[in-house]
Amino acid sequence: MTVQENFLKIKGHLPQTVTLVAVSKTKPIELILQVYEAGHKDFGENYVQELVDKHEQLPKDIHWHFIGHLQTNKVKLIVPFVYLIHGVDSVKLLKEINKQAEKINIIVNCLLQLFIAKEETKFGLDYKECEELLSSEEIKELKNINVKGFMAMASNTDSNEQIKTEFRALKNFQTRMLAINPKLTVLSFGMSGDYPLAIECGSNMVRLGSSIFGNRTYINH
Ligand SMILES: *Cc1c(COP(=O)(O)O)cnc(C)c1O
Repeated sequence: MTVQENFLKIKGHLPQTVTLVAVSKTKPIELILQVYEAGHKDFGENYVQELVDKHEQLPKDIHWHFIGHLQTNKVKLIVPFVYLIHGVDSVKLLKEINKQAEKINIIVNCLLQLFIAKEETKFGLDYKECEELLSSEEIKELKNINVKGFMAMASNTDSNEQIKTEFRALKNFQTRMLAINPKLTVLSFGMSGDYPLAIECGSNMVRLGSSIFGNRTYINH
Protein backbone atom coordinates (compact mmCIF):
# COMPACT_ATOMS: atom_id res chain seq x y z
CA MET A 1 0.00 0.00 0.00
CA THR A 2 1.25 3.51 -0.76
CA VAL A 3 1.21 6.21 1.92
CA GLN A 4 -1.66 7.84 0.04
CA GLU A 5 -3.76 4.66 0.04
CA ASN A 6 -2.96 4.07 3.66
CA PHE A 7 -3.94 7.63 4.54
CA LEU A 8 -7.26 7.34 2.68
CA LYS A 9 -8.08 4.12 4.48
CA ILE A 10 -7.45 5.65 7.92
CA LYS A 11 -9.25 8.88 7.06
CA GLY A 12 -12.22 6.90 5.74
CA HIS A 13 -12.70 5.23 9.10
CA LEU A 14 -12.68 8.43 11.16
CA PRO A 15 -15.89 10.19 12.16
CA GLN A 16 -16.29 13.44 10.19
CA THR A 17 -16.34 15.43 13.41
CA VAL A 18 -12.76 14.42 14.18
CA THR A 19 -9.94 16.48 12.66
CA LEU A 20 -7.01 14.38 11.54
CA VAL A 21 -3.57 15.93 11.91
CA ALA A 22 -1.11 13.96 9.79
CA VAL A 23 2.11 14.02 11.80
CA SER A 24 4.85 14.29 9.19
CA LYS A 25 7.89 14.80 11.44
CA THR A 26 11.07 13.23 10.00
CA LYS A 27 9.17 12.35 6.79
CA PRO A 28 10.26 13.65 3.36
CA ILE A 29 8.41 16.17 1.19
CA GLU A 30 7.41 13.48 -1.37
CA LEU A 31 5.45 11.51 1.20
CA ILE A 32 3.75 14.61 2.58
CA LEU A 33 2.72 15.54 -0.98
CA GLN A 34 1.09 12.13 -1.41
CA VAL A 35 -1.20 12.90 1.50
CA TYR A 36 -1.70 16.52 0.41
CA GLU A 37 -2.68 15.36 -3.08
CA ALA A 38 -5.34 13.16 -1.54
CA GLY A 39 -6.95 16.45 -0.47
CA HIS A 40 -5.53 16.70 3.03
CA LYS A 41 -4.49 20.03 4.53
CA ASP A 42 -3.63 19.44 8.22
CA PHE A 43 -0.07 18.41 9.02
CA GLY A 44 1.82 18.34 12.30
CA GLU A 45 5.49 18.86 13.06
CA ASN A 46 7.34 18.99 16.36
CA TYR A 47 10.66 20.65 15.52
CA VAL A 48 10.72 24.34 14.65
CA GLN A 49 13.46 24.23 12.02
CA GLU A 50 11.93 21.24 10.27
CA LEU A 51 8.56 22.97 10.24
CA VAL A 52 10.04 26.18 8.83
CA ASP A 53 11.85 24.26 6.07
CA LYS A 54 8.79 22.24 5.13
CA HIS A 55 6.56 25.31 5.15
CA GLU A 56 8.93 26.91 2.64
CA GLN A 57 8.97 23.91 0.34
CA LEU A 58 5.33 22.85 0.43
CA PRO A 59 2.04 24.41 -0.80
CA LYS A 60 1.02 27.50 1.13
CA ASP A 61 -2.53 26.36 1.86
CA ILE A 62 -1.35 23.67 4.27
CA HIS A 63 -2.53 24.10 7.87
CA TRP A 64 0.61 23.60 9.91
CA HIS A 65 0.13 22.35 13.45
CA PHE A 66 3.03 22.72 15.84
CA ILE A 67 2.81 19.78 18.23
CA GLY A 68 6.22 19.84 19.92
CA HIS A 69 7.59 21.64 22.91
CA LEU A 70 8.04 25.26 21.85
CA GLN A 71 10.94 27.30 23.21
CA THR A 72 10.23 31.00 23.66
CA ASN A 73 13.21 32.03 21.53
CA LYS A 74 11.79 30.10 18.55
CA VAL A 75 8.24 31.45 18.70
CA LYS A 76 8.84 34.22 16.17
CA LEU A 77 9.94 31.73 13.52
CA ILE A 78 6.56 29.99 13.32
CA VAL A 79 4.03 32.63 14.40
CA PRO A 80 3.69 34.19 10.91
CA PHE A 81 2.30 31.02 9.35
CA VAL A 82 1.38 28.45 12.01
CA TYR A 83 -2.27 27.32 12.04
CA LEU A 84 -2.47 25.95 15.58
CA ILE A 85 0.13 25.64 18.36
CA HIS A 86 -0.80 22.58 20.40
CA GLY A 87 1.69 22.43 23.24
CA VAL A 88 1.40 25.70 25.16
CA ASP A 89 2.12 25.09 28.82
CA SER A 90 3.13 28.38 30.43
CA VAL A 91 2.13 32.02 30.74
CA LYS A 92 5.62 32.94 29.64
CA LEU A 93 5.13 31.12 26.35
CA LEU A 94 1.65 32.58 25.84
CA LYS A 95 3.04 36.07 26.38
CA GLU A 96 5.79 35.56 23.84
CA ILE A 97 3.35 34.18 21.24
CA ASN A 98 1.09 37.16 21.91
CA LYS A 99 3.99 39.59 21.55
CA GLN A 100 5.11 38.16 18.22
CA ALA A 101 1.54 37.99 16.92
CA GLU A 102 0.89 41.59 17.93
CA LYS A 103 3.93 42.76 15.97
CA ILE A 104 2.45 41.50 12.73
CA ASN A 105 -1.14 42.13 13.71
CA ILE A 106 -2.48 38.59 13.62
CA ILE A 107 -4.24 36.31 16.07
CA VAL A 108 -2.63 32.95 16.80
CA ASN A 109 -4.62 29.86 17.71
CA CYS A 110 -3.30 27.85 20.65
CA LEU A 111 -4.14 24.81 22.72
CA LEU A 112 -3.09 24.49 26.34
CA GLN A 113 -1.17 21.30 27.00
CA LEU A 114 -2.34 19.30 29.96
CA PHE A 115 -0.23 16.81 31.80
CA ILE A 116 -2.45 13.76 32.25
CA ALA A 117 0.06 10.89 32.28
CA LYS A 118 1.71 9.09 35.14
CA GLU A 119 5.21 9.64 33.81
CA GLU A 120 7.43 12.44 35.05
CA THR A 121 8.86 13.23 31.65
CA LYS A 122 6.05 14.90 29.77
CA PHE A 123 5.38 18.62 29.53
CA GLY A 124 2.14 20.29 30.45
CA LEU A 125 -0.03 21.97 33.04
CA ASP A 126 -1.98 20.04 35.63
CA TYR A 127 -5.73 20.61 35.81
CA LYS A 128 -5.50 23.10 38.65
CA GLU A 129 -2.79 25.18 37.00
CA CYS A 130 -4.70 25.15 33.76
CA GLU A 131 -7.93 26.28 35.36
CA GLU A 132 -6.10 29.06 37.21
CA LEU A 133 -4.43 30.18 34.02
CA LEU A 134 -7.73 30.29 32.13
CA SER A 135 -9.36 32.43 34.79
CA SER A 136 -6.35 34.72 35.30
CA GLU A 137 -6.33 38.41 34.46
CA GLU A 138 -3.07 37.88 32.59
CA ILE A 139 -4.61 35.71 29.93
CA LYS A 140 -7.41 38.19 29.28
CA GLU A 141 -4.84 40.79 28.31
CA LEU A 142 -3.36 38.62 25.57
CA LYS A 143 -5.46 39.98 22.73
CA ASN A 144 -3.52 38.30 19.96
CA ILE A 145 -4.01 34.78 21.27
CA ASN A 146 -7.03 32.62 20.71
CA VAL A 147 -7.10 29.67 23.12
CA LYS A 148 -9.21 27.06 21.38
CA GLY A 149 -8.94 24.11 23.74
CA PHE A 150 -6.56 21.50 25.06
CA MET A 151 -4.01 18.90 24.02
CA ALA A 152 -2.60 15.99 25.96
CA MET A 153 -0.78 12.68 25.77
CA ALA A 154 -1.74 9.63 27.77
CA SER A 155 0.70 7.46 29.71
CA ASN A 156 2.90 5.22 27.65
CA THR A 157 1.39 1.97 28.91
CA ASP A 158 -0.23 -1.23 27.66
CA SER A 159 -3.10 -0.72 30.07
CA ASN A 160 -6.13 0.47 28.14
CA GLU A 161 -7.89 1.02 31.45
CA GLN A 162 -5.22 3.47 32.56
CA ILE A 163 -5.37 5.34 29.26
CA LYS A 164 -9.14 5.43 29.36
CA THR A 165 -9.13 6.85 32.89
CA GLU A 166 -6.77 9.62 31.78
CA PHE A 167 -8.76 10.40 28.63
CA ARG A 168 -12.07 10.48 30.50
CA ALA A 169 -10.70 12.87 33.12
CA LEU A 170 -9.47 15.13 30.33
CA LYS A 171 -12.85 15.12 28.60
CA ASN A 172 -14.57 15.92 31.90
CA PHE A 173 -12.20 18.79 32.51
CA GLN A 174 -12.89 20.22 29.05
CA THR A 175 -16.66 19.91 29.55
CA ARG A 176 -16.34 21.86 32.78
CA MET A 177 -14.17 24.56 31.18
CA LEU A 178 -16.44 24.80 28.15
CA ALA A 179 -19.30 25.79 30.42
CA ILE A 180 -17.24 28.80 31.52
CA ASN A 181 -15.72 29.60 28.13
CA PRO A 182 -17.57 28.31 25.06
CA LYS A 183 -14.53 28.86 22.83
CA LEU A 184 -12.65 25.90 24.32
CA THR A 185 -14.02 23.35 21.87
CA VAL A 186 -10.89 21.62 20.58
CA LEU A 187 -9.61 18.47 22.28
CA SER A 188 -6.40 17.20 20.71
CA PHE A 189 -5.62 13.73 21.99
CA GLY A 190 -5.05 10.33 20.48
CA MET A 191 -2.00 9.11 18.55
CA SER A 192 -1.41 6.03 16.37
CA GLY A 193 -1.45 3.65 19.31
CA ASP A 194 -4.54 4.91 21.08
CA TYR A 195 -6.72 7.00 18.75
CA PRO A 196 -9.77 4.70 18.55
CA LEU A 197 -9.94 4.83 22.33
CA ALA A 198 -9.36 8.61 22.28
CA ILE A 199 -12.28 9.14 19.90
CA GLU A 200 -14.47 6.92 22.05
CA CYS A 201 -13.53 9.15 25.01
CA GLY A 202 -14.40 12.41 23.22
CA SER A 203 -11.35 13.51 21.25
CA ASN A 204 -12.12 15.69 18.23
CA MET A 205 -8.56 16.04 16.94
CA VAL A 206 -6.20 13.10 16.57
CA ARG A 207 -2.50 13.33 15.71
CA LEU A 208 -1.38 10.36 13.65
CA GLY A 209 2.16 9.81 12.45
CA SER A 210 3.37 6.24 12.14
CA SER A 211 -0.03 4.76 11.27
CA ILE A 212 -0.11 6.99 8.16
CA PHE A 213 3.55 7.33 7.18
CA GLY A 214 5.09 4.18 8.69
CA ASN A 215 7.62 3.96 11.48
CA ARG A 216 10.11 6.75 11.95
CA THR A 217 13.84 6.37 11.88
CA TYR A 218 15.02 9.06 14.19
CA ILE A 219 17.42 11.70 13.01
CA ASN A 220 19.35 14.12 15.18
CA HIS A 221 18.10 17.63 15.58
C1 LIG B 1 5.07 12.14 17.12
C2 LIG B 1 3.87 12.67 17.76
C3 LIG B 1 2.60 12.18 17.44
C4 LIG B 1 2.37 11.04 16.48
O1 LIG B 1 2.81 9.85 17.01
P1 LIG B 1 2.47 8.43 16.33
O2 LIG B 1 2.54 7.47 17.44
O3 LIG B 1 3.50 8.22 15.28
O4 LIG B 1 1.11 8.55 15.74
C5 LIG B 1 1.50 12.75 18.07
N1 LIG B 1 1.64 13.76 18.96
C6 LIG B 1 2.85 14.26 19.29
C7 LIG B 1 2.91 15.35 20.28
C8 LIG B 1 3.99 13.73 18.72
O5 LIG B 1 5.19 14.24 19.06
